[in-house]
Amino acid sequence: MTSTRAFVFPGIRSRVVFGAGTLSQLGAEMERLGRKRALLLATPQQRSDIDALADRLGSATAGVFAGAVMHTPVDVTRAAVVAYEQSGADCVIALGGGSSIGLGKAIALRTGADQIAIPTTYAGSEMTDILGETSGGEKSTRRDPAILPETVIYDVDLSLTLPKDMTVSSGLNAIAHAAEALYAPDRNPILSLMAADAIGAFANALPAVIANPTDESARADALYGAWLCGATLGGASMALHHKLCHTLGGSFDTPHAQTHAILLPHTIGFNAAVAADLLAPVSLALGGATPGKALHRFAVQLGAPTRLKDLGLTEPDLDQAAAIAVKNPYSNPRPFSQADIRALLQDAWAGTEPPL
Ligand code: NAD
Repeated sequence: MTSTRAFVFPGIRSRVVFGAGTLSQLGAEMERLGRKRALLLATPQQRSDIDALADRLGSATAGVFAGAVMHTPVDVTRAAVVAYEQSGADCVIALGGGSSIGLGKAIALRTGADQIAIPTTYAGSEMTDILGETSGGEKSTRRDPAILPETVIYDVDLSLTLPKDMTVSSGLNAIAHAAEALYAPDRNPILSLMAADAIGAFANALPAVIANPTDESARADALYGAWLCGATLGGASMALHHKLCHTLGGSFDTPHAQTHAILLPHTIGFNAAVAADLLAPVSLALGGATPGKALHRFAVQLGAPTRLKDLGLTEPDLDQAAAIAVKNPYSNPRPFSQADIRALLQDAWAGTEPPL
């Protein structure tokens, strides 16, 4: 690995409680924050889980808002802030994937509420101070220390029910954070170690989870990988891969985890032309091929989605996406033109194996 000889390590600020059955520590964690009554957040799909949690917390439940949706629409946040204020809560507890956790962050940003995040996917939002919100069909992203959840409880048991297809896409979504952290200009040795270990954990865990979704040990390894990947997303700047996913999600409303899963081999393969040494942990963890090829083969082995055309995108959409993607400049290890992005998107649309 190319060493980072000069770096800043800003530390990792969230408190993390990890293990099987750790949900039992929720009351103690609320107490530790000095909080007494929580508004509980979830998506409509996880309504029964959040209701069960409300029962479990008893009088510490100030209310339940089960209206979280993907990409954190501002009108949903407005309704949730009203629910927070009317409930008399002094903190929020978000149970679920990035959609629930995003809503918790959006409430915290507006009210100063403390947050406890209980992730049940591998998206990693719980470890970042990043919030993406949509309004009028546009997605904008901001970073603010107030956005970062104070406490994160990873309970392996809650990940056992994550459906197979979401498990695979969400796992690849997580690996994307680690892969881009490996070549980030603001990377540091701790994040690089975390990224490499995370990719290794997923490389072993995902095939085992797909073979047996209730394999506790494999689920624990996958969730451990998700924690590390989330920390790398929170600690390093993301580049071409995340920007392209943002473009497709924001402008074409493609599903978050699946978009990451499909683009990952192509974006990492593109950057491997200039960052092969930094990306070596990807190849090492996934069987030795070049990083893009290794990711592609891993995705195929897992039965992950591999074609943008299956998300309903058309070839004219790719022209438009390539134009949007080069509008605002950002740092990326390999310089690129609109034509480069268009060619990359074509490969991702057709699902062909990337050259590197
Ligand atoms: P999600 O939160 O939308 O979850 C997908 C579906 O799976 C939902 O219906 C959810 O209820 C269900 N689900 C989640 N866990 C489950 C479980 N264990 N069992 C059964 N069903 C379960 O999807 P996601 O990919 O986790 O999050 C996507 C959102 O998160 C997007 O809005 C994205 O922008 C955001 N995100 C933000 C960051 C950040 O740092 N700001 C990072 C990653 C993702």
